[in-house]
Amino acid sequence: MRVLVVEDEQRLAATLQDLLEMDGCTADVCHDGEAGLDNALSGIYDVILLDVMLPRMDGFTVLRRLREAGSAAPVLMLTARSEVSDRVAGLDGGADYYLTKPFEPKELLACVRALARRQPELRREDALTYGDIRLERGAFALACGERSVRLSRKEFDMMELLMLNQRQVITKENLLLKIWGYESDAEDNNVEVYISFLRKKLGHLHSRVKIRTIRMVGYCLEGGES
Ligand code: CA
Repeated sequence: MRVLVVEDEQRLAATLQDLLEMDGCTADVCHDGEAGLDNALSGIYDVILLDVMLPRMDGFTVLRRLREAGSAAPVLMLTARSEVSDRVAGLDGGADYYLTKPFEPKELLACVRALARRQPELRREDALTYGDIRLERGAFALACGERSVRLSRKEFDMMELLMLNQRQVITKENLLLKIWGYESDAEDNNVEVYISFLRKKLGHLHSRVKIRTIRMVGYCLEGGES
């Protein structure tokens, strides 16, 4: 597995590189946002660790440019800041996971493995439909009529799971397990955050489809019946 570490604190970057290499990965390091973006765009990385506060270009901008360029590489954001607004900005901007410094090495490695596991599945280029929405697998986009929005990897996986299980309630446990994996420390509120992102995007698309909350159980789609 090949990991790109974009982190300007030299000592932390070196520690991350050692940790990843001890865990059997190949790790490359960049110390600023521009170099990080250039390297990330090469498309050779299975996972990208991206610091937020970086010289030349901040992590959010790197992430946005990367997604705009069509890269779906899993991105794990790292930051010293723990404000909710940053977390939301990172996740909304297409990050797949978020770790606040200082973090446990074991937690970091578990996240990297969980993200990498989701990577090699070959996405079919076809689209899934439900009601007036269309999930475009090749483009990681959700469309309704002429409107279309890009989804982050987690949003995409979640929407795909909901659409593949139309008329069924998907439990939160199931979403956590299928999307974050066994080793992750993700909790129920991670699911809620992504469900709220998807609801916002459905609203933006002016779709009739809604994600219904079944209290104490989970979620299902509704509005697909003509
Ligand atoms: Ca930094």
